[in-house]
Amino acid sequence: MPSQRPNQRVVVIDGDDASPEAMIPSVSLVESMGLAIDFVRPPIGEAAKAEFGEYFPDQTRDAIDQADATWFGSTSGPTTAALFYLRWGKQTYANVRPCEWMPGMKSPLAQPEGLDFVIIRENLEDLYLGLEGELSDLAGLNLTSRNARAALSDLGPGKYAIKAITERGSERVIRFAFELARKRGKKKKVTVTSKYNMLRVSDGYFREIGKEIAAEYPDIEFDTYIIDDFLCRMITKPGDFDVIVMPNLYGDIMSDGAAGLLGGLGLAPSGCYGDDYAYFESAHGTAPDIAGRNIINPTATLLSAAMMLDYLGHTDASDALNHAIREVYREGSVLTPDQGGSATTTELCDAVSRNLQVRKSET
Ligand code: ATP
Repeated sequence: MPSQRPNQRVVVIDGDDASPEAMIPSVSLVESMGLAIDFVRPPIGEAAKAEFGEYFPDQTRDAIDQADATWFGSTSGPTTAALFYLRWGKQTYANVRPCEWMPGMKSPLAQPEGLDFVIIRENLEDLYLGLEGELSDLAGLNLTSRNARAALSDLGPGKYAIKAITERGSERVIRFAFELARKRGKKKKVTVTSKYNMLRVSDGYFREIGKEIAAEYPDIEFDTYIIDDFLCRMITKPGDFDVIVMPNLYGDIMSDGAAGLLGGLGLAPSGCYGDDYAYFESAHGTAPDIAGRNIINPTATLLSAAMMLDYLGHTDASDALNHAIREVYREGSVLTPDQGGSATTTELCDAVSRNLQVRKSET
């Protein structure tokens, strides 16, 4: 008898505020595609706290470990422990945020055609290590500011945050960017950006590592811009870019800006990849201001699912899902309010689902 390959497993975390309104119909939609994937929802949040005494209990951590990937709805409050585990626990260092405009998306650009680049945000270090405290705690170090030419102790009371740019952290995410540029096979170009003129040691290091790795990829064009210059170019000449890699904080900010170029946060997906694990989530937060109204745009959530299907090896299904979403925007009659329409979240998911059926019947 041929051995039966067990189904793949994906952990689903529906998230908080408006996130479940996007996640629940999106997960149902992907389940209906009939792929050999089991979607499991381990306990999290208030329900987990009531039953197991913790918002993010051990069995949920174990379920993440045993799954092939996690599909993550944005969280706020104590369930954010799950996000910390998915990032630092699973070492998902490359936060990949594609910015691809589809005809029909309400971009503020006069000519959004050809808008198709990917921001890679280093996901684990920089200022996001959470190394903050009282300036007075650093007094014993006798530090002197290079720019202000003043002793730290002269600044008076205040707080500090440490920005760490490591060799290993930078190398692996920059290498990931070059490999992605090769795989995409589009412009075959990598841009490294940081504030290397002011932060010569830390951000300068990131850039230097970029240059060193670029030398290993002669088939990939390489350039580098100071982050503020990059931002201006991203808005005025977005078509110049292919894959752009940057430290964590800049990536967080620039990718929301890139979502704005597409037409809003509801359109921007992301996938966070490590060497052994990946999780997928919309680039937006929990959208608390629109919770409970069934109007959150599920496009970012669905496009993240398409990235996940590709990661899991379901390339055809990923392409089909992308195509079905693209058709909704091209056709333009079922759009959520953020895109100028009056459709609900579930109506948009239903429209994507219908397009999937049409494509299935055509093939
Ligand atoms: P975070 O800091 O976690 O990114 P945030 O609170 O800064 O979260 P979001 O939750 O992303 O930001 O929301 C910012 C604004 O964008 C809100 O007005 C929200 O309603 C809107 N928004 C975010 N995502 C969507 C979406 N999918 N559909 C419609 N509007 C959205």
